[in-house]
Amino acid sequence: MRINFNVPPFTGREMIYIKQAVDAQKICGDGQFTAKCNKWIEDKTGCEKALLTTSCTHATELAALLTDIRSGDEVIMPSYTFVSTADAFVLRGATPVFVDIRPDTMNIDETLIEDAITEHTKAIVPVHYAGVGCEMDVIMDIARRHNLMVIEDAAQGIMSTYKGQALGAIGDMGCFSFHETKNFSMGEGGALLMKDARFIEDAEIFREKGTDRSKFFRGQVDKYRWVNYGSSYLPSDMNAAYLWAQLELADEITKARMDRWNQYDVLLRDLADKGLIEQPFVPDYCTHNAHMYYIKVRDLEQRGDFINFMKSKDVLTVFHYVPLHSAPAGLKYGRFHGEDNFTTRESDRLVRLPMYYALTEDDVNYICECVHEYFEG
Ligand SMILES: *Cc1c(COP(=O)(O)O)cnc(C)c1O
Repeated sequence: MRINFNVPPFTGREMIYIKQAVDAQKICGDGQFTAKCNKWIEDKTGCEKALLTTSCTHATELAALLTDIRSGDEVIMPSYTFVSTADAFVLRGATPVFVDIRPDTMNIDETLIEDAITEHTKAIVPVHYAGVGCEMDVIMDIARRHNLMVIEDAAQGIMSTYKGQALGAIGDMGCFSFHETKNFSMGEGGALLMKDARFIEDAEIFREKGTDRSKFFRGQVDKYRWVNYGSSYLPSDMNAAYLWAQLELADEITKARMDRWNQYDVLLRDLADKGLIEQPFVPDYCTHNAHMYYIKVRDLEQRGDFINFMKSKDVLTVFHYVPLHSAPAGLKYGRFHGEDNFTTRESDRLVRLPMYYALTEDDVNYICECVHEYFEG
């Protein structure tokens, strides 16, 4: 393949930092690089506390534990999302209640949330698709009035803002992903962001196998004990070292991605003007992080045809989520509230173009030529 869909981010300093972690003989969790990454996230987003985790999936599981989600509870989320958004709550015995998305941003339609609330509802989980913020003012207002927790799936949202606030640090908790497909990576990894201090102590305990080991290392207790249930959600410091090399250059990486994103947007605008494709929409009070460049084509059939055409040109383009409510586990564990006006239709039409740190200006020129060739012959 001449142009892949994704290439993991690499800045050149990763191996130096991994060696430092090894030389320090501290390769388990919560070493120097984990501490640096946590602090970077706190400084960047303004959250009270950030904890690196082994994945965004695990950060969401932590959030579900901290929300004390139990069997019979309901959690409102979009169906157009990755499985982890729902999995974390299904593992606690809860029912994901899916509501439709807005066709413009592909985010949860905030005007449909309130109608989906029942006496069992415990939380709302907005997913910031493509790093573009959901309508958080409306969502936070609904949550306050109904006494619900807001857990942001900000897996794609690092460095993005909504009305000046960092995604992931607006709700009660937020979850970042550092999977190799995300803007900054540690292979597999993520982070839990806590907006205020009330969850910190329990979060540390759940993350450290139900022990107060974090307190012990700070000298706050003289031995560490098993104090609650929990699991192991802390990543190796070697992985954190890889991530640190990217957080250090976060602005540079974001700028490089943004240049490519804007290039796509300019070069494909004529096709959108002719009504042949649709381009992504970013509300003017949101800044985004160029996580993804997608277009929407006519329908499912044209999308399959387009992906094959691009493959024949040696360019890998990919579709995205199969709506969770139509997947086997979604049918079993969840339910859709209201009409599916846009979730299935819009997801069928969406195709993602290559987007990664190492993508070049020439690459995007070539990809856009191929897209023009497909639509205009
Ligand atoms: C990538 C992603 C996740 C999962 O992240 P992991 O770190 O792989 O667990 C969850 N939700 C969304 C929206 C994602 O894009």
